[in-house]
Amino acid sequence: MPDQPPQTTPAQRRHVPQRTCIACRATDAKRALIRLVRLAEGRVAVDPTGRVAGRGAYLCHSPACWRQAIQRRSIVRALRLDALHPEDESVLYAYAQHLEDTMAAE
Ligand SMILES: [Zn+2]
Repeated sequence: MPDQPPQTTPAQRRHVPQRTCIACRATDAKRALIRLVRLAEGRVAVDPTGRVAGRGAYLCHSPACWRQAIQRRSIVRALRLDALHPEDESVLYAYAQHLEDTMAAE
């Protein structure tokens, strides 16, 4: 192994990626926003674990944000889709409803 000269790299700044809700633009690095991920064939899935590979977009836990993001095509733009697949749209609306039900139950 050759001797490596001491590297004078600047202290690595740990960049915490700032998540931004694509509907209300709220940013939150700590509290997890819910990730959407673009899959093959231009399909979209909710990715609560944030581990699915692919272009992602984030939404907060507000059902209104989900509905707004669907209706205003924010998801389509954020994920660079041509259009939201009708089935995915149903899934996303269902997720918004799920969030609303969860909130109402608290
Ligand atoms: Zn939001």
